[in-house]
Amino acid sequence: MSQPRLNSPTDIATCRDDFPALHQEVNGHALVYLDSAASAQQPTTVIDAVARYQREDHANVHRGVHTLSHRATELYEGARDKLRDFVNASSRTEIVLTSGTTESINLVAQSYCRPLLQPGDQVLITWLEHHSNIVPWQLVCEQTGAELIVAPVNDRGEVERDQLRDLMTERVKLLGIGHVSNALGTINPLSEIIAEAKNLGITVLVDGAQGVPHMTVDVQALGCDFYAFSGHKMYGPTGTGVLWGREALLEEMPPYKGGGDMILEVSFDHTVFNELPYKFEAGTPNIAGTIGFGAAVDYLQSVGLENIHEHEKSLHDYMVHKLVDVDGIRLIGTAADQASVQSFLLNDIHPHDLGTILDHQGVAVRTGHHCAMPVMQRFGLPGTTRASLGLYNSSDDIDRLISALEKARQVFA
Ligand code: PLP
Repeated sequence: MSQPRLNSPTDIATCRDDFPALHQEVNGHALVYLDSAASAQQPTTVIDAVARYQREDHANVHRGVHTLSHRATELYEGARDKLRDFVNASSRTEIVLTSGTTESINLVAQSYCRPLLQPGDQVLITWLEHHSNIVPWQLVCEQTGAELIVAPVNDRGEVERDQLRDLMTERVKLLGIGHVSNALGTINPLSEIIAEAKNLGITVLVDGAQGVPHMTVDVQALGCDFYAFSGHKMYGPTGTGVLWGREALLEEMPPYKGGGDMILEVSFDHTVFNELPYKFEAGTPNIAGTIGFGAAVDYLQSVGLENIHEHEKSLHDYMVHKLVDVDGIRLIGTAADQASVQSFLLNDIHPHDLGTILDHQGVAVRTGHHCAMPVMQRFGLPGTTRASLGLYNSSDDIDRLISALEKARQVFA
């Protein structure tokens, strides 16, 4: 199989050069970073945007009359505009800045679902979900007497569409579904699933943590009601994220947290809440991180989501093609439509042992349950080894993974 490249042969080398952390040795070997699904490395433009703010523009946002505060506010709100454009939200008021996907989903569970759910109602999710898209619903179901129900997946790691359809009844008040499974790489056919849910009047939240780094996302075209994602999966800083929500829904929702910035007026008798999106942004936000998040959006758009998608898709095909030739490999997650993630087992080597041997050879992968214990249980496994790709990976990285696996196989023979 020929080695995949970006559109032009120089693109891949250029991108890789933008990421300083990739240019180091780990345990005496050039680093091969195959853990972008956990957290992607950051390009120099992101690192510099954060450093510049810290060095020259640091001040609190929104409340200041002085120049630094104006500059900080401009940069911070500029990031919101970039994020609006990035997911094609119809208005900047629909972009709620959060600390990440986890907080975004908890916000919806507590602010949208908690006032709405009654005993007898249901929240529907799938077996593929990350704990962030399970536990917040469990909590709100316990608080309200509603029930959490789960659509099963088949042996390839695809949601069983007929059973998902059967579970969508008038009792279901919200469907929470991942765009891409972080454990198995499955890309859900979101447009079709969302259309089915919306036909029945079901509100849909998409966990987009593993969607936005790998493909163009247009929330209006998708037709969902909420879309949650994290900055650090898309080459930005940790502790940043977005809840996109339809304005009409966000307007109706009560604040999730109280504090500064989310108010217009406070007395001991009464508080008037701020307008969207500030109603949901209590307290001093992660200003530096959000400015870096904006720079990450610029970076992704300069490379082009279509280019990234094509590159990662051919690289994933190449990885699977090479992995299946390794004696003793069992792939976990073989969906027809997969993005950038491959879980596997090698003989009966414990994933943690395998991950350690790979690390000794400079190859960084993730091992364990990937914060998705139920789907691991579905496959009867405590965990897997997972290689996940970013835009900076190349076929050389895959070749290094394969030779490190061969070595591990010999070590444990
Ligand atoms: N959802 C998915 C699919 C994820 O992969 C992750 C992180 O791994 C999360 C949610 C949680 O993201 P964060 O920890 O940035 O809130």
